[in-house]
Amino acid sequence: MATSDVSATWADYHARRRLFWASVWLGPWLALGIGALWLVERHGLHGLLWPLLAWLALVAWTGARWQASRCPRCGHRFFHARPFLLALRAPRCAHCALPKD
Ligand SMILES: [Zn+2]
Repeated sequence: MATSDVSATWADYHARRRLFWASVWLGPWLALGIGALWLVERHGLHGLLWPLLAWLALVAWTGARWQASRCPRCGHRFFHARPFLLALRAPRCAHCALPKD
């Protein structure tokens, strides 16, 4: 891969990682904020269900995007496809052993 391709791939990897962690940490606050302000008044505690399910779906989507990242060196998927989200803990590329950071 050319140097610009490698840096673009790393930038994409880091963007996906930031989006995942932002959804993990900011999602509950947004979900509870929306739920507390509007849905709880209308539906009681059950009003929190949809915002929290939306948060879980967001975490799953951003995690799947991060897990599908390409390796800057070999171009294959950086992580194994399974187990979902837990494979993100791998310190190296699943194919060429390129270190994560
Ligand atoms: Zn690789």
